[in-house]
Amino acid sequence: TSSQPFALQGLDLSRVYGGFRALDGVAISVPKGEVRGIIGPNGAGKSTLMDVLSGRAASWGGTVRLGGRDIGALSPRERRQAGLARSFQKTNVFAELTIDEQIRLAARSVEIDNSAEVLDKLELTALRSRLAADISYGDRRRLDLALALVGRPQVLLLDEPAAGLTVEESLAMARLLRDLALEWQVTVLLVEHDMEVVFGISNRITVLHLGKVLAEGTPDEIRSNPVVVSAYLGS
Ligand code: ADP
Ligand code: MG
Repeated sequence: TSSQPFALQGLDLSRVYGGFRALDGVAISVPKGEVRGIIGPNGAGKSTLMDVLSGRAASWGGTVRLGGRDIGALSPRERRQAGLARSFQKTNVFAELTIDEQIRLAARSVEIDNSAEVLDKLELTALRSRLAADISYGDRRRLDLALALVGRPQVLLLDEPAAGLTVEESLAMARLLRDLALEWQVTVLLVEHDMEVVFGISNRITVLHLGKVLAEGTPDEIRSNPVVVSAYLGS
C-alpha cells in the first residue's frame, strides 16, 4: 500500500524440518538499493530464509513480495525471471564447462542478456574460455556471483559469497557488492560469516536466532545491542 514498495518483502515466513522450526514467523522488508546483512549462528535459519525467499523451499504460510508483487506461488525459475536471483552457500558452477558456456546457459533463462557487462564487471572476461575446473577458488566464487547477475536481477540473495576466500579476496568481494548496489541499484540480501564484510557494507543488518528475528538495525545499532552481543557476537 506504500507508494514506494519494498524491493523484497517476506512476511510471516515459517519452515519446519522434522518438527524443528528452522524458520519461525520471520518478517523482513528490504528497500530498493539496500545491502541487508543477515547474520546469526550456525543453524539460525539463514539459508532456510534464502530458500523460502527464492522459492527453493515452500514457506508454511506467509507472503513473499518482489517490488510489491506477490511471488509466493512462483517457482524458483519464475522468481528468477521476475528479477530475484540467488547464489548458494556451496559453489554451484559446472566444472566441465567454460565460463563463457555457463554464462550463456544462465542467459538463456532470462530476458536481458548483459553477459558481457557482467563478465567485465566481475573481471572474468580474460578467463572466459577457461573451464571452471581450471580457475582458482576465488575466481569460481566470482563466477557464482556472475551467474546470479546475468539478466540484471533487481534483488540478489547471496549465501556466504565470501566463504573460503582470503582476507584480501573477501574485502574485494565486499567492495564489488557495494559497487553493484550503488551503480546497478541491485538490492542485496547478504548472508555472511565474515563480520568485517557484513558490517562494512550493509546498510542494515537482520540478526536471526533459532529461526526468529532477534534484532534488526544499522551496523552500529547491532554492534552495540546487548541481546545480540550475548546471543551471538559476544566472546
Ligand atoms: P544457517 O544457514 O543459519 O546455518 P539453516 O537454515 O541451514 O541454518 O538451517 C536451520 C536449521 O534447519 C538447522 O537445524 C538445519 O539442520 C535445519 N535444516 C535446514 N535445511 C534442512 C533440510 N533440507 N532438511 C532438514 N533439516 C534442515
Ligand atoms: Mg547456511
